[in-house]
Amino acid sequence: MGSPFPADRPNPPDLVPFEQARAAVLERLGPLPAREVPLGDALGCVLAEDVTAAEDLPPFANSAMDGFAVRAADLAGASGADPVDLQILGEVFAGTGRLPTVGPGGAARIMTGGALPPGADAVVPVEETSADERTVQVRLAPGRRQFVREAGEDVSAGTVVLQRGQTLRPAAIGMLASVGRRSVAVHPRPRVAVVSTGDELVDPGDPLGPGQIRDSNSWLLVAQAHAAGADAFRCGRLRDDPDALRRGFALAAAEGDLVLTSGGVSVGERDYTKQVLAELGDVRSFRVAMQPGMPQAFGMAAGAPLYGLPGNPVSCFVVFEVLVRPALRRLAGHPDDRLDRHRVVARLGQPVRSPRGKTSFLRVRLDVGDDGLVATLTGNQGSGVLSSCVAADGLAVIPAETTELPGGAAVPIVLLHEDLAWVS
Ligand code: AMP
Ligand code: MG
Repeated sequence: MGSPFPADRPNPPDLVPFEQARAAVLERLGPLPAREVPLGDALGCVLAEDVTAAEDLPPFANSAMDGFAVRAADLAGASGADPVDLQILGEVFAGTGRLPTVGPGGAARIMTGGALPPGADAVVPVEETSADERTVQVRLAPGRRQFVREAGEDVSAGTVVLQRGQTLRPAAIGMLASVGRRSVAVHPRPRVAVVSTGDELVDPGDPLGPGQIRDSNSWLLVAQAHAAGADAFRCGRLRDDPDALRRGFALAAAEGDLVLTSGGVSVGERDYTKQVLAELGDVRSFRVAMQPGMPQAFGMAAGAPLYGLPGNPVSCFVVFEVLVRPALRRLAGHPDDRLDRHRVVARLGQPVRSPRGKTSFLRVRLDVGDDGLVATLTGNQGSGVLSSCVAADGLAVIPAETTELPGGAAVPIVLLHEDLAWVS
């Protein structure tokens, strides 16, 4: 793998346009190799095989109702005013294997899912009958095959029921079980090892000393990666010390299909991160023309792809959503047109400004107005103000060339939550 960005760029490099950064990162990643996983572990994974039904589904003709299995010809003309009596010959429950034969003038009690017995060609619902032990009086003339679920009516043997590239949603898991699969070939969930860097960081629950802050990014990134379908875990909080960083990144690379690190990719004096990452592989630092989230790094380090995110929590959050998440989804085998979050168009609830030359991702709340969706800023848009993300339904995307937009302008919104898909 070569570097995603040409090495002959002047340093500090030019700002890389957002789309170019996205494309360069995605270009270097492919789906993780397919693996057979048990059905219970496959939810959310991308299918790596076409799944064919080996058997008809349902496997045999059966009753759609509780009632009586009958011969339709016996009941021609039956009605409430003119009921027809049939002799009860037996009972069929769901799961009954030995079936009575229904001859002329006969009927069998049948429950939903019971196999249609030989001789019968229709079912009469119990509500249309009165019965004692031996005889049933029927007040309905059923059509042939009425209330019968035919063999193979859902899926006939040999049909492809699920296709390679499909995401396994709950109904697909049910279908796999229906066609008898106990395991299935999928692209596995990427394992994401998350580290934080910075001497100032302490864990939640530890006392804060002077100048210290809590490490929020590793928790944030693990949560975002989980929400994106990955198996993510914290893999250390690293001091700004070359040896600690070297050891920490090597460990993370050994544990993860992808390493995420935050902090230390900007130009601060004590940021050894860039130097160590360059030593461990071909990780390059670059600046993306976006706000928030400009300083970033990407490449191979100690054998695994590594994404370096900015230290400011809001930058970290946004960079994950718009750049790392698509990369993770690529590893997970999602097709190109399903890497990004859904977008909708909303009208701005207020005027906004955006720096020239950078794509802005503003944190917005969405409300349904008289004239469609309205996007309102969630407050202070500073890159350290995580509360702006907590309240956000989406990210309003302001193109690089736009410096201001009036209230009411239509803007694309990246939806941050799947449960907002109703607005799309
Ligand atoms: P850096 O990119 O390392 O220069 O950090 C930029 C800002 O983000 C600084 O204010 C850091 O203290 C802060 N920061 C870095 N890492 C984290 C973290 N894991 N959690 C919260 N804030 C962080
Ligand atoms: Mg730092």
